[in-house]
Amino acid sequence: LISSPTSSGLHIIHIAAEMAPVAKVGGLGDVVSGLSKALQKKGHLVEIILPKYDCMEYDRIGDLKVLDAVVESYFDGHLFKNKIWVGTVEGLPVYFIEPQHPAKFFWRGQFYGEQDDFKRFSFFSRAALELILQAGKNPDIIHCHDWQTAFVVGKHDSYNLRLAPLYWDLYAPKGLNSARVCFTCHNFEYQGTASASELGSCGLDVHQLNRPDRMQDNSGHGRINPVKGAVVFSNIVTTVSPTYAQEVRTPEGGKGLQATLNSHSKKFVGILNGIDTDSWDPSTDNVLEVQYSADDIQGKAENKEALRKQLKLSNGDPMQPLVGCITRLVPQKGVHLIRHAIYRTLELGGQFVLLGSSPVDHIQREFEGIAKKFQSHPDIRLILKYDEVLSHTIYAASDMFIIPSIFEPCGLTQLIAMRYGSIPIVRKTGGLNDSVFDLDDDTIPQQFRNGFTFLSPNEQGLNGALERAFDHYTGDNESWKQLVQRNMKIDFSWDSSAAQYVELYEKSVSRAKATKRT
Ligand code: ADP
Repeated sequence: LISSPTSSGLHIIHIAAEMAPVAKVGGLGDVVSGLSKALQKKGHLVEIILPKYDCMEYDRIGDLKVLDAVVESYFDGHLFKNKIWVGTVEGLPVYFIEPQHPAKFFWRGQFYGEQDDFKRFSFFSRAALELILQAGKNPDIIHCHDWQTAFVVGKHDSYNLRLAPLYWDLYAPKGLNSARVCFTCHNFEYQGTASASELGSCGLDVHQLNRPDRMQDNSGHGRINPVKGAVVFSNIVTTVSPTYAQEVRTPEGGKGLQATLNSHSKKFVGILNGIDTDSWDPSTDNVLEVQYSADDIQGKAENKEALRKQLKLSNGDPMQPLVGCITRLVPQKGVHLIRHAIYRTLELGGQFVLLGSSPVDHIQREFEGIAKKFQSHPDIRLILKYDEVLSHTIYAASDMFIIPSIFEPCGLTQLIAMRYGSIPIVRKTGGLNDSVFDLDDDTIPQQFRNGFTFLSPNEQGLNGALERAFDHYTGDNESWKQLVQRNMKIDFSWDSSAAQYVELYEKSVSRAKATKRT
C-alpha cells in the first residue's frame, strides 16, 4: 500500500459513497470533491475512500492502478479480500475499494437503490477502516458522509471503548486511535434504517448498540438507525446549512431524529456548502457555446439562443424569459410545484426547460406524460435524464431558475445558477433561506438581495414570486442586468466554509490531545 505523504497541516480522510465528477448522484458528490479541494489548497493532506463502482466515469480518473497489497475485511462471519485501486480525481488522491465478494456489491450499474444497500455500504464502511489500518495511516480526522458511511463513526470514550460502532468498537483497540471522527449529514430524510439483526454482518455488536441511547431508531424497537448512531458517537456532527441545522431540531424537520440532535446539540453545527468555482465558471466553461463573465454578459444571450436552437424552442424574441430547473424529481423538491411552475410560466409568456429524473416510478411516469404533451411545443421542454453537459448549458442559458423545495438541506443549484447569472426563485427553507434574499424585502440590505423567495409551499406562494420575477425582468431591463452581474460576482467558493470545517477539526484534535495529556 502506498504511504501517505507528509504535510504540515491536518491529515483528513473522507469516506464517502459519492465524489464528483466520477461518482455523482446529487449534491453529496459535489461537496466531497469541493470541500476536499479547498482543504488541500489550505495545505492539508486530504485523501478520499470510495467504492469502486462499475458505473463510474473512469475517464475522469487519472493514473488509476491496482495496488499489489490486498485488504481483507470481515463480513457475515468470513474474511473477504478487497482489491484496492488508487487514482487521482481533480488533483486529489482517491482509493477505490473493490470487494471480492460473490454479491458483487458495486457491480450493479447504479450507485444506490439496490435491495441490499445496507449490506453494500456496511461492508464498504468496514473495508474502508481496514484499509486505513492496514495502510498504517494515522489521520487526524476521518470525515464520514451520510448513512452509507455512518457505520464508521465512533465517539472516543476513555471509560468504555466498547460503546461505539465500528471505529471505536473494533479499530481503536487495534491501534487506529489517532483520529477524531466528523460526520456530515447531507439530508436527514435518508437514515438507512434496517432491522437490528443486519448490523451484525459487519461485525458490530447488535446487543450493545440496539439501545435507545445508541443506534436504536427512535420510532420503535427492532430497527437500528446508522445516522442516529453517527450523531451519538461522532466527535463532530455537521449538516449543510445553518437554517437546516435549526429545522432538523424540530418535529417537522427532524424526521424522527430531533430529540437525538437536541441532546447532542453541543457538537452539532450547520455550515453552508460552497461550490467548486473552478468547475462552475462561465468564463472558462468549455461546454458553453460562448464563455462570458460578470464584466461582459453578452455571451449569456448567445448561450440562450444556442440552447433554444438545440432544444428546438422558439427563438424569435431574445427578451422572452427562459426559466430553468435542474433537479432530482423527488417529493422533497416540490414536484407538484415544479409541475405548476411549467404551466404558470407558459401563461406568463415565458419558456421553461426542465432537466431532471426520478427514482420514483410514478413521478417519472407523470413527468414523461408532461414531456410528451409538450414534445414539440415552442416554449416548453422537459429532458428526463441525468446529463452533466446539458446542465451547464441550462445554467448559462436561463434567465431565472426555480427551486420550490419543501425542504432543502443546502441546495447547490441556486448557487450555481447565480454564478451563471440565472436569478433564483426559491422557497424559503434550509440552505435556500441562507443564500437567497428577496429583491423586494426591505428588511434586507439592498446589496444582499439577489433573487425571489416565497414561504408557503403552495401554488399561490410560487405564483407570487414567479410573477414578481417576470415583472422585474420585463419592467426594468437595465436593473435586471445589474442584478445578473452582481450575482455572478458573489463569492460562493468553498474557501470560507472549508475554513469553518478546519476550525472544527482543529478544536477537536486539540481537545483530544489535551485529554490524552491528563
Ligand atoms: P440534491 O443533492 O438534493 O440532489 P443539490 O442542489 O444539493 O440537490 O445538488 C444537485 C446537484 O446535482 C447539482 O450539481 C445539479 O446541477 C445536479 N443535478 C441534479 N439533477 C441533474 C440532472 N438531471 N442532470 C445533471 N445534473 C443534475
